[in-house]
Amino acid sequence: MIIAVASGKGGTGKTLVATSLALSLSDNYKIQLLDCDVEEPNANILLHLAINQSQRVYIPIPKVAEAKCTYCGKCAEVCAYNAIAVIKEKVLVFPELCHGCGACSYLCPESAITEEGREIGVVERGDSGNLELIQGKLNVGEAMAPPVIREVKKYIDPANIIIVDVPPGTSCPVIEAVKGGDFCLLVTEPTPFGLNDLSLAVEMVRKLGIPCGVVINRVGVGDKEVERYCHQEGIPILLKIPLDRNIALLYSKGISLVEGIPEWREEFLRLFQDINRIIAARWAAK
Ligand code: SF4
Ligand code: SF4
Repeated sequence: MIIAVASGKGGTGKTLVATSLALSLSDNYKIQLLDCDVEEPNANILLHLAINQSQRVYIPIPKVAEAKCTYCGKCAEVCAYNAIAVIKEKVLVFPELCHGCGACSYLCPESAITEEGREIGVVERGDSGNLELIQGKLNVGEAMAPPVIREVKKYIDPANIIIVDVPPGTSCPVIEAVKGGDFCLLVTEPTPFGLNDLSLAVEMVRKLGIPCGVVINRVGVGDKEVERYCHQEGIPILLKIPLDRNIALLYSKGISLVEGIPEWREEFLRLFQDINRIIAARWAAK
């Protein structure tokens, strides 16, 4: 089972929820937590696992043999990302824009383009007991998060329960992290900003055909509009976490919610049972 934990905006407590769920379930199940928030992977700040494996991530970028090139311009024409340009008798490659799709080398009529790897990040792995963490890290200044996320997801073992810490927002890296999931938990806060970004995230998961439920964090900080929206849209609110100084203090010290306040384990186990029920009901209805 793959549960993605996402949020339309950053800072809602997505990682707090993902790590608490992983730690609570790891008492009884084999868990893989995939930190796909590759621009800012911070699940391990709360998990404190020793990293024992590291693998660099590369994307293939074009290398042009000018001796073979006729400067026909075909490569620049097919590149959807403006990462290659032909100016008179010169082919220019802009590695930071290249998505490594391979279209230019495939379509070059002179076979003048080969590919070379460019390092864009790293995937790290660590474990303790039943809990395994796989985290992607995008190199500073890089924009190409999806290839790193794909590398992280290659570690998925379907025999385990997989929890995916998704990047914030609703852009390409988010879609890459969420797709293939059985369920998406959307973490939000009861503010106008939370509501706005939640509605965008709901639209995204609906387009992907993934069932979702909501966790409202910092209950007490704003208004009831998020709850009203969820009721109106028929989206279950599966957990509420209050605005609580103790929770904020634990987080600021790098202590997970369920380790700092063990009573919360029960809440996260109940959350998991609710997710199970929703997935089972959906399968039964098919
Ligand atoms: S498609 Fe090939 S031959 Fe044409 S300009 Fe590009 S590299 Fe040169
Ligand atoms: S590999 Fe794809 S993205 Fe990169 S330059 Fe070639 S066509 Fe453009």
